[in-house]
Amino acid sequence: MTKIALIGCTGSIGRQVADVVRRFPDRFSFSALVCGSDKRGLEALAEEFGVKTALCADEAEGRTEALFADCDVAFIAACGFAGLSYTLAAARAGKKIALANKESLVCGGELVMKEVAAHGAELVPVDSEHSALFQCLHFSRTAAFKKLILTASGGPFLRKTEEELKTVTAREALLHPNWKMGDKITVDSATLLNKGYEVIEAKWLYGAQFSQIEAVVHPESIVHSLVAFEDGAVLAQLGYPDMHIPIQLALTYPERLPCERELDLISLGALHFERLPEEKFPCFSLALEAGKAGGTLPTVLNGAAEVAVRAFLSGRIAFPVIAETIQGALDRFPRVRADRYETLREADMRARTYASEYIYGK
Ligand code: MG
Repeated sequence: MTKIALIGCTGSIGRQVADVVRRFPDRFSFSALVCGSDKRGLEALAEEFGVKTALCADEAEGRTEALFADCDVAFIAACGFAGLSYTLAAARAGKKIALANKESLVCGGELVMKEVAAHGAELVPVDSEHSALFQCLHFSRTAAFKKLILTASGGPFLRKTEEELKTVTAREALLHPNWKMGDKITVDSATLLNKGYEVIEAKWLYGAQFSQIEAVVHPESIVHSLVAFEDGAVLAQLGYPDMHIPIQLALTYPERLPCERELDLISLGALHFERLPEEKFPCFSLALEAGKAGGTLPTVLNGAAEVAVRAFLSGRIAFPVIAETIQGALDRFPRVRADRYETLREADMRARTYASEYIYGK
């Protein structure tokens, strides 16, 4: 029986983790549940799975050690920068960490990798692209490769012109062609910020140079990512876009549990690949720039993005202003070394304050 401490239990990923536990009740149970703010959702899950330690994020603060004391896997599915403190706590507890919170590595990659190594923790990717890379690398984060190739659906606005992008709405942004996800990440898919984040994530997870990571558009979202090797061979992982598969694999690898739907190649017929239109989606390059600069800059980028995306979702700003806000924050704050969590938290708060003032005025 694998005991899971699930952080972010009422979000999109959290609910799919609960589905997997429901499906394999003799394999998995929950030792702790933490939600962001959906107290009712939390209580319902705690009752269904008989979990005594069930907390809202504000109650969980400062008690992270106790949260992970009794678990085999720390499943970090919290949304945004808020996930980082849990990932660090789980690393310090030397746990197996199923990581679905990409901001942990985007913002705190250096710190997280240091704590993982120092405490013998294990980092397992849940993001579908990184799970695909993990599989192509035979479940190793240190295997040799020449290139990591991330696929991107391109999001709902792939075919829009720059002019059309000025008037797209939050409702349109939330209509992702292939994946059902939370609001924040769905907008991040529409801006391609998400793909920029995934490049940074891949860098930390697999010790890659930025020059070794590529992103290509693959509108069908069937090939989840590919690894190119020295001899020219390229391995890919295929499957329908369904997060239940990478979630259950993160919990059981190298063992594989049955899935509900087999891939039907004939009905798929053809798969397509094309260049990522970076010039139309500046958030992608901004993320890469910040990722390459390192230090506090990815945290500044993310803090500004979290505020700007919320403002876009509420109809306050136009789509291109998301990138504008991020750019402004990156111009405003110098890079600082990020060797402590507190430094990152301060950079995050400053970026949020800057973005709020930029969007809502002082
Ligand atoms: Mg992904």
